[in-house]
Formats: sequence, structure tokens, C-alpha cells
Amino acid sequence: MTDTHEVVQPDHEVVVIGAGFSGIGVGIKLKMTGIDDFVILDRGNDFGGTWRDNTYPGVAVDVSTLTYSFSFEPNPNWSNIYPEGPEINRYALHCADKYALRPHARFGTNVAATSWDDRNHLWRIDTADGKTYTARYMILGPGGLSEPKLPDIEGIGQFTGTVMHSARWDNDFDLSGKRVAVIGTGASGVQIIPSIADEVERLDVYQRTPVWIIPRFDLPIPAGVQLMFRHLPATQRLARAGMYGFVEVLLVLALTYNKQLKPVVRAVEKASLTQLRLQVRNPEIREKLTPRYGFGCKRPCLSNVYFPAFNRANVELITEPIQRFTPTGIVTADGIEREVDVLVCATGFKIFEKGGLPPFEVHGRDGVELGTHWDENRYEAFLGASITKFPNSFLTLGPYGFSGANFFQLVEQQSDHAIRVMTEARKRGATCAEIRQEALDGFMDMVMRRRGSQVFFNNGCANSNSYYFDHHGDVPLLRPTTSAEAWWSSKTFKIDNYRFRSLPEVRATKGVADAASIAS
Ligand code: NAP
Repeated sequence: MTDTHEVVQPDHEVVVIGAGFSGIGVGIKLKMTGIDDFVILDRGNDFGGTWRDNTYPGVAVDVSTLTYSFSFEPNPNWSNIYPEGPEINRYALHCADKYALRPHARFGTNVAATSWDDRNHLWRIDTADGKTYTARYMILGPGGLSEPKLPDIEGIGQFTGTVMHSARWDNDFDLSGKRVAVIGTGASGVQIIPSIADEVERLDVYQRTPVWIIPRFDLPIPAGVQLMFRHLPATQRLARAGMYGFVEVLLVLALTYNKQLKPVVRAVEKASLTQLRLQVRNPEIREKLTPRYGFGCKRPCLSNVYFPAFNRANVELITEPIQRFTPTGIVTADGIEREVDVLVCATGFKIFEKGGLPPFEVHGRDGVELGTHWDENRYEAFLGASITKFPNSFLTLGPYGFSGANFFQLVEQQSDHAIRVMTEARKRGATCAEIRQEALDGFMDMVMRRRGSQVFFNNGCANSNSYYFDHHGDVPLLRPTTSAEAWWSSKTFKIDNYRFRSLPEVRATKGVADAASIAS
């Protein structure tokens, strides 16, 4: 029997959660498609996401700016190959302003939970301050680096000195003359340590797992080149294509087809060890800084200044495990206590773990909650974008969405995926699109079959302590395909992988432009 209840119409066609590069990219793509009825929610006070929140000393990108931008919004003005954080954040704000996203933004909006209403084919998005937004579609772009983690070590609450996480830096706090401990030697620690070493009185670096470091070939981009990029945009597109090809071959292929391309990875490992030998004088310290797992198992870092910091008299590399905190310092397993004034936790983020991505509950059909479902089963999403029982919702950084080449490509490809489905729903007069279980299973079968070639299952990753691995032993951060294949899949997946349903009373949805103009 047909259900003919009075249908509740959503407030908006689309709610986008997150105003970092994900939300910016999705918003721009929606506008380009003619979808104007959307809001972007973010708990922060402006666009920028990770680049708004990470302001620690030395913060900079280590993906070349030749590719670090939206394909449709090249920036001819980058100052360097690897610019610093504030410049990247300015680019984010430029994109938001140029494409008039501000009227769509609802800042200071902390999403508490979202739930699918199957009776009305809409999402309810509840915020911490008691407001509810409703939308036909929900796009989740909260980013992977939004939930900082403090070290799970006894007594951290007892420490009475200053505690700062790398992603919550207090730039008004003066570190000069202080005794500082940095816990963590991932990408954030690697940038912070050399940046503060000469300012502080003493710097204790607590390293649990050494990280692979490769040289950073940074250069200022000459004014003549900027001028050329501005007036002959084809030259910038050419440079972008060249860099894209280089990264695809060196990084993506070598990590994705590690089994087949071992020599490439061995050559990179050699270069890194040579840099270590040339830059660190003390052989004992060199030994401690040498990774005991293969390159690529965890995120490698680019730096020319990290290793030399350990030649300084005021910097100590401590590899003895931390046992506990005291009110004034840190005690290691050998019983030594080192007193410090400031504790810097460069200890990373919750990513593919419960409460990480996304950091709120998402209730789908039949009472299934997304975080619990992933936690109890495995992280999965069709092309990294959609999950059965969570209709009309899409992820930007979903499990197996990213190939590792370029975050901007990911955002564009995932936006295109969502818009293809929304457009098709519109064409069919449907109000609900849900990925079929068999399509999701088929994609996950491909992932499991092909991951055997990935670096994670070939290069001695057991000792790496890599956050790329989730608690199931899977690596949902990276899709085991090239990024070109990932891009192609988003354009060509069979649309009937989605099951479309209609509410009889709903003939047209608000805010979606003419289907023919969107479909192309
Ligand atoms: P991360 O890569 O997760 O590193 C966290 C560090 O903290 C690791 O060295 C980890 O040791 C250590 N740690 C965590 N808990 C600990 C404990 N209880 N005791 C001792 N050590 C502990 O975090 P991140 O450095 O913030 O980087 C996260 C991601 O942000 C990067 O992978 C990258 O994608 C991005 N990022 C990019 C840039 C850039 O573009 N330049 C800069 C910063 C961050 P183990 O290794 O043993 O776990």
C-alpha cells in the first residue's frame, strides 16, 4: 500500500558539513551545477579547516603548490613550491570569497548528530546549541585532521605546566627560555621541532617511532614565473600536469604497486638514509632516527632542517618510552624524570577510529549508526563516497576514497560523484538515492583483492605504528588504485549502482537547476 502521509519538505536541498577545502570545493561545485540551496556548517569561525586551525611554528604544506589547488582555480601567486600555512589559508579564503560561499556559511555551528528520516527522505542535522537543519542531501566533509588526540599516558591531567596540541597552538605564548618537551615526530612534530629549537632553553623530543624524512626541494617562485602563470595560464596547467605525473609515478604507483615497483621505494629509502648520514653527526642519534620499517608504511615527511636540529646542544632525542607525567615533568621507563615548563603534543588526530571521521553520530536507515557500523564491521564506502543504509549522503574523505596524490582532486572527484547522483535523482523524479549493497560489496572486493600490492602489505610495516592502519588491520585511508583510475571511476560508475526511490507527493526538489543543464 502506498504511504500518502503529508510529506515534510526539507529546509535546504543540501547541507555540507565542514568549511575546509572539502566544504569549499563541494560548495563551488554545487554552485557551478546550478544548485544554490545549500548551507555549509562549521564549528569554526571562518573557512579554511585544517589550515585555519593549524598555526604552529613552521606549519607549511609539503605537497607542491604546482598541484595544491583546485583544478578550476589555479593560483599564479604562490610564493614558493611549498608555502607556509597562512598562505594556504589565504588561498582557501580567496576561493570562498571568489565563488560567493559566505552567504551559505553557518559558522559557530557544532554538529552534534545527524539522522536520516526515511519517511520524508531527508536528513536532520542537530547542532550542539539545539538547532536542527533539514536537507534532502548531506555531504560530509569534516576532514581527517579535525579531532586532535592527546597522548593516552598516565597522569597527563596532573601536569601543571602549559600543554599545547599542535593543532591548537597558542601563538601569544612565548616559548623563549622555556624547557619544552615535544611528544610526537610525525609531520607536525617534524615541522615544530626545528622551528622552536633555537628559541627554547631546552628541547626534549620524545620519539616513539622514527619517521622517514626526504629532502624538501623548496624554492621561491620567481616573479617572472608568476607573471607567466598569470598571463599564460596554459603554462601553469602544463606545470601542474608535469608535477601530477611525477607524483603519480613516484608516490602513487610506488605505494600502490609496491610489490611490483620495489626498486623505486628502495631508491627513496637510500636517499633518506644518505640525508640522515650527512646531516646528523652523532652515530648513536643517527641510529635512533633510523626507521625500522619500509618507506611508505606511514606518512613520510619532507624536511631539510629536521635532522640537523639533533646536532644542537639544547636538543635531546629521547626514545625510552614515556611512563607517566608528574605535575612538573615526564618520567620515562628507565625511571628518569625530566622537568619541563611546556608540553607540546604533536600526537596526531582521530581519523579512521570511532569518534574521528566524522566526529558525531550519523544515524542511517534501520537504526544503523555509521561510526558503530564501521567500528564493528570494517571501514567501507562505495568509491569512498557512499554507504548502504545511509541514503542521500556522501563523504569527501571516505574510506578508500583517496589515492594519495592530491587532496584537491579527491574533493573534486567526490563532489562530482555526489552531484551525478543528485542530478540523476532529479531526472528520475526521485527523492532518495542509496548505494546498493552489491555495488558496495563489489567495490570492497576489488579493494581487498588489490591491496595485496600496496606498500602496507609488502614493506615490513609491522613496526611502523602507522595511523594508516585501523583497528581491523585495514588501510582505509588509501584506495589501492592510481589516482587517474579513481578520477575515472567517479565519472563512469554505473548510476544504477544506486537505488532510486520517490516520495509520491514530492514532484520536484527545491534548489536544483534544470536537470539537462546539470547532467552534462
Ligand atoms: P601523526 O602523524 O599521527 O604523528 C603523531 C606522532 O605522535 C607520532 O610520532 C606518534 O608516534 C606520536 N605519538 C602519539 N601518541 C603517542 C604517545 N602516547 N607516546 C609517544 N608518542 C606518541 O600526527 P601529525 O604529525 O599531526 O600528522 C598528522 C597528519 O597531518 C599527517 O600525516 C599529514 O597528513 C598531516 N600534516 C601535514 C603536514 C604537511 O603537509 N606538511 C604537516 C602536519 C600534518 P608513533 O609514530 O609511534 O605512533
